[in-house]
Amino acid sequence: MNWGNNNKKKVWITTGKIGIFKTCPYRYRKLYISMDTPKKEWKPNPNYENLSKNIKKKIEESSKIFRGRIPTIIENIDPKDERFDEKTLLDFERELNEFISENKFSEYKQYEKPKFIEYSDNFGLLAKPDFTININKIPTAAFISNSKYVKIKENLEYDMEHLLNVWTLRKKFSEIKRILYIFPLGKKLLWADIDEGDFENGEEEIRKFINDLSKSNFQSGRNPFCDWCDFQDNCPAWKGYPFTIKKEKRKVIPRLSYSKLDLYKRCPFAYKKVYVDKIPQKARDFFSTGTTVHNVMEEIEQLDIPLSVNDIHNIYLKKWESPGFISKEDEAEQKKAVWAWFEKYLKEIALNPFKKAKWTELYFQFPIKNKVMVNGFIDRIDKNENGKYEIIDYKTENMIRSQEDVDSDMQLTAYSWAAKKLGMEVERLSLHFVRFQKNIYTTRTDADIERFEKEVSEWFDKIETEKEFPPKKNKYCDHCDFKEICGI
Ligand code: SF4
Ligand code: SF4
Repeated sequence: MNWGNNNKKKVWITTGKIGIFKTCPYRYRKLYISMDTPKKEWKPNPNYENLSKNIKKKIEESSKIFRGRIPTIIENIDPKDERFDEKTLLDFERELNEFISENKFSEYKQYEKPKFIEYSDNFGLLAKPDFTININKIPTAAFISNSKYVKIKENLEYDMEHLLNVWTLRKKFSEIKRILYIFPLGKKLLWADIDEGDFENGEEEIRKFINDLSKSNFQSGRNPFCDWCDFQDNCPAWKGYPFTIKKEKRKVIPRLSYSKLDLYKRCPFAYKKVYVDKIPQKARDFFSTGTTVHNVMEEIEQLDIPLSVNDIHNIYLKKWESPGFISKEDEAEQKKAVWAWFEKYLKEIALNPFKKAKWTELYFQFPIKNKVMVNGFIDRIDKNENGKYEIIDYKTENMIRSQEDVDSDMQLTAYSWAAKKLGMEVERLSLHFVRFQKNIYTTRTDADIERFEKEVSEWFDKIETEKEFPPKKNKYCDHCDFKEICGI
């Protein structure tokens, strides 16, 4: 395996690199192995640089190590820069002030350069804390992020960036006992102790990444970030794609997936929290179960020869997703229980008889009225002997929907609409209720598809002009992360 380092230097792993590999191995190879990207001059965003400097300075001043004027965090920042508007910064500054007044700081140390940690002969990792400081005598490493996507405590044990930070800090700065994340744009501070379990999980993630990389055939995979990728114009995954608008426009047009629209329809308040305020949803066992089943199906559906149930069980164990279970015991029980119904589905439907899929997890994106880009992934598409197509969506929910519900299901209409744009004639669509080994079939007409465009256009206008984002009671409220704050 060529690690892209001509065997003299190490490959330096960062979370960003792992993220790129997971999204598209082909892009990873282009960027870090064949290195055929035209080098672009990198210019730091002066507003972010200033903001970052001011946050460090403010904490530094509070540590009483350096005397002098305490800057405000909006100093030198252009409030017209929409990412750093004055209200956002003032809100964040209040939180930072509170944090500073509640804690005692000492021994501030700023890091200009990343620290390198050797992992093996071929690999190393980078640690890039912005500074370290004692907070209430606890040595802490701080990371300032310019992302709007904040982290939440409940998900840290599954957060790749956090696990890698824990791993590298524990190796390189063993005196550090805590991490502080600073999110000026998300108006949030979050800290977490360096945890032994997270360290081990971090090591496991690194091992897994190295293993996957060594076996990879670097396939390209269309995804929602492709319009920002330098290789899109010559990418095999997009060859012959019927684009209707230019790349520059594609980058700025708002995007609306079916799940995004569905959340808005169910509850505008929850939509705002997730998609406007960018608050990540807590990991849940039912999300993990769904991901496991989808990932196993994706692995087996495109094989020429079917695997045995035993082999699939091994894949299932390897692909099992752990986030969101309340305890190890509960997870172990669920792992058995989920396999019991999944095995039944495999024996009764997926392998009876086995049929190779034409496509799995097919990504599509098409604009409506050139004002909104509707995008999504289709679980599975089969090509029938008559040349027509069949669309399948897997459902792992714990109830079966009625025929009427499936006939009017907007997600299936969206898939039918996208398939038509991709030049396929869809014969039928179905939802596979894996837990119940039951498939419900339906069809869509051209009139349905036309109506879909009109409906989505109207929903999009409504979201764009929405001011209130009111909460709306619905059947999913019991599992909602925001039920304590929505007032319902
Ligand atoms: S355009 Fe998309 S599929 Fe192609 S290399 Fe880039 S990220 Fe991968
Ligand atoms: S609990 Fe509140 S925020 Fe969550 S879905 Fe229900 S109404 Fe909406």
